[in-house]
Amino acid sequence: MSAAPLPSFTDEPLSLSRQAAAAPEQPISRLMADALDNPKLISLAAGFVDEHSLPCELVKKHVGLLMRDPSEGPRALQYGLAAGDLELRQRIARRYFADAWEQRSEAMLLSTGSNQLLHLISECLMEAGDIVLCAAPTYFVYLAVLRDLGVEAVGVDCDAQGMCPEALQENLDDLTAQGKRQRVKILYLVPYFDNPAGATMPAERREAILEVLRREADGGPPIALLADNAYRDLRYDGQDVPCFLDLGAEPRWTIETGTFSKNLSPGIRVGWGVFPEPLHTALLRRKSVIDFGSPHLSQCLVREILADDELDQHLCDVLRPAYRRKRDAMVEACERWLRPIDGVQFENPGGGLYVWLKVPAPLVTSAGSPLWEACIRNGVLYVPGEFCFASQGAAVQANTMRLSFGVQSENRIAEGIKLLAEAVKAELV
Ligand code: PMP
Repeated sequence: MSAAPLPSFTDEPLSLSRQAAAAPEQPISRLMADALDNPKLISLAAGFVDEHSLPCELVKKHVGLLMRDPSEGPRALQYGLAAGDLELRQRIARRYFADAWEQRSEAMLLSTGSNQLLHLISECLMEAGDIVLCAAPTYFVYLAVLRDLGVEAVGVDCDAQGMCPEALQENLDDLTAQGKRQRVKILYLVPYFDNPAGATMPAERREAILEVLRREADGGPPIALLADNAYRDLRYDGQDVPCFLDLGAEPRWTIETGTFSKNLSPGIRVGWGVFPEPLHTALLRRKSVIDFGSPHLSQCLVREILADDELDQHLCDVLRPAYRRKRDAMVEACERWLRPIDGVQFENPGGGLYVWLKVPAPLVTSAGSPLWEACIRNGVLYVPGEFCFASQGAAVQANTMRLSFGVQSENRIAEGIKLLAEAVKAELV
């Protein structure tokens, strides 16, 4: 599968800027387009949320209440603050941080989904040629953001608890030896139920990562820690873990982001981040010229849902039970159909939306590979693991794939895994 070339505009009156002309196509978009062509295909590829759990009634109720209120309704439909609704920022600060809420809400910016923040943060902190350290594997959309900016991504080895601090230190030492350490600007982590690997970092691992960053900041320019907490609320087993700032991360170089896309609705498009200065001011200025701030109505809606504690109710009564069942359906099917195949590896993720699967090493999962084609013929789609690896640092694991249990019903998940296992077995003979 190769990226579709941009249409040539040589005969057209409009010419594109160099950056627009070079904009990389998201490989996943092409996969999705293929999947939509075949409605029978069971897609375990899309990172979408479960359609049946979307909070239609909750949204209807709060939009109704807002619009019936003669002052709140018009206010919600007016432009808001560029930084985002103050009361919502305060509620987010209270929800996700142990203390210093006033400070956190002042250092916060609301965005149109957290992807927008990932792009803006990277644009504000880096030049082309700078370096981001990330997990191997990592969130492939962020890799595309970095490609878009001409920033190099370097993958760091991980285990079942996320990025390994020793591997992080080794990579930094290598980059120092190559004279590139000054160009390392961001360490990007998805510390809760990582996309794609599903791993959550325990507190001790987070502290060990912070220790590496502290040592680095002692001897050279600090590296910004960008902690993307997109899946924190989607926990099905065990206890929550404190975020980096609550574990004593240095606020001058720590960024925490989150989103209401996974725990509520991606269509509402509300993301948030807490930033050190001068990044906070720079982002605020960028947002002000780009869009004057994100949609105020969406922010008012989330604010009201948080005010009534209804997000937690929704999580407890609807989302967590639904996703736990789907996660169980996927893991049980993997145990039944895939585990007996020698060399297959996967973990049971305690939350999130993904299972990261390794098939026996001689097989490769890339789009267009024999296994890929066999899966399409069988009627099942996955995300090839190769999309999730940076081009530098830790080696690409060509025998991996991301499986999502967010969208499909339990029956279709089980059926999809069975079809996948049949394809794997057929390709091994
Ligand atoms: N971070 C991660 C790790 C994600 O998986 C996603 C969504 N797929 C996002 C951020 C961003 O989501 P949104 O822009 O909808 O907030």
